[in-house]
Amino acid sequence: MILFDDVTGHITDAGFAALESDQLELQQRLELAEHLSFCDDCCARYTAFLEHRPLLEPPHPVAAPVIRRIRSHGRLILLRRALRVGLAACLLITVLSVFAPPLTGVKSGSLRLDFELQQNTAAAQQLARQAAKDKEIEPQTLNMRISNAVDQLIAALKEKGETEQ
Ligand SMILES: [Zn+2]
Repeated sequence: MILFDDVTGHITDAGFAALESDQLELQQRLELAEHLSFCDDCCARYTAFLEHRPLLEPPHPVAAPVIRRIRSHGRLILLRRALRVGLAACLLITVLSVFAPPLTGVKSGSLRLDFELQQNTAAAQQLARQAAKDKEIEPQTLNMRISNAVDQLIAALKEKGETEQ
């Protein structure tokens, strides 16, 4: 049996058939395996030769367990990504709250509140002062005001009469 072509040095069809039918001695099998390890042409021909052989069937179906493992692994990857994003967000918030200056909008809002509080206090004090003045004036009833005015008028008349004499 001729395993290699004398002209090209590649494995012959008879060599492939012998390799497939497992009729070779160990020495011949090793020579063919060595040639296949470096010759791309013979490797491609051997692959085409093997394509017509029936595929082996696994003892039990493997599609369902493989799909289950793929889905569970996908869920694990998704969970890890969500955890990473959550941790990054927490870290960012912590860093920003520690190192970032307070927001300017909040600062001006608190200043505005302080200003309004001062204005309200001043207005309350003014109202209290006004109320105290009103209390001082308020005891004078209309009769008292009239009698005061009459007293002032009499005093003014007396003063005028004294000056005329
Ligand atoms: Zn070859």
